[in-house]
Amino acid sequence: MDNSRLYPGTGQPAIRDVWAARKRISRLVTKTPLVKSSNLSEQFRSSVYLKLENMHEIGTFKIRGAANKILSLTPEEQQRGVTTFSTGNHGLAVAYVARKLGIPAVICISKRVPDVKVKALQKLGATIKIHGSSQDEAEGYCHQLAEKEGLTIIKPFDDPLVIAGQGTIGLEILEDFPEIDTVIVPVSGGGLIAGIALVLKSNDPDIRVIGVSMEKGAVMYHSLRAGKPVVLEEEDTLADSLLGGLGRENHYTFPMVQKYVDETVLVSEKAIAQGMAFLMKWHRMIVEGAAATGLATLFEKEPVSPSSNVVLVVSGNNVDLPAFLKATQEFI
Ligand SMILES: *Cc1c(COP(=O)(O)O)cnc(C)c1O
Repeated sequence: MDNSRLYPGTGQPAIRDVWAARKRISRLVTKTPLVKSSNLSEQFRSSVYLKLENMHEIGTFKIRGAANKILSLTPEEQQRGVTTFSTGNHGLAVAYVARKLGIPAVICISKRVPDVKVKALQKLGATIKIHGSSQDEAEGYCHQLAEKEGLTIIKPFDDPLVIAGQGTIGLEILEDFPEIDTVIVPVSGGGLIAGIALVLKSNDPDIRVIGVSMEKGAVMYHSLRAGKPVVLEEEDTLADSLLGGLGRENHYTFPMVQKYVDETVLVSEKAIAQGMAFLMKWHRMIVEGAAATGLATLFEKEPVSPSSNVVLVVSGNNVDLPAFLKATQEFI
């Protein structure tokens, strides 16, 4: 890979890869707002900010990693086209970036992906292949397809260029709120938190990085405790974007999360629903379950001492409206 510099010897992205990503993706990705939550700040006697990754055109941060990876491909690779497997938001990002660049995209998803996401993918002009009932099954199918048709697989998280792309969130947070001492980040495969943690820890190792997942099917959480990637049954959860394994062979995100992340926590479905309701009620925003896990962490775990400077990463808004209303009605 000639146009990206990776941390020598490890293949892991370095902080300058994140700066390079920022430059590369600037034509497709706009900086997102960091807004103070006065209500949360009062409640927790701290400064609590929300990093609004739900504000991208496609409603999620995954556009950052996808854009950085696809823009790094050779013109020949771009012409042949790209493919991916995804619980939805990454597929959406790949389809969006491919359409912007005028290249073909095939998205392989499992049948667990909510209808709203399938429709959004179709609207972006991608070819959709639905296969199996878990992300790992969709992944197997994607590999066969890539081999047969010469497509490049854009992985959802375990790729240094994808991690560097997600890391640009960390740069933006530091620019807007250099006083930050704690960040709470939703975790699935770990690309989001690996990128953000790389940036924050490289600037100040004392910044606390907390990863959060739902109680049901939290693969990274249990893998960290087992010391190696584990496989779990997928279950229905409000945080469906956090489902999925660490990939058949994890090279980057698992070791990076082991190295950089201070703690990982689990939150209940009820706390996630409360977080979603809170954002609607006090910030007039509709977000998906995964994006509300940071708030759920504050409500359920109270992890911050008074006078902290906290950022919650609000990661996306792709949620079926009926599901949103059903989950939140008792808290509004
Ligand atoms: C993908 C995703 C995450 C988790 O990102 P990983 O890099 O897989 O850990 C969190 N929130 C939303 C909305 C997502 O789509």
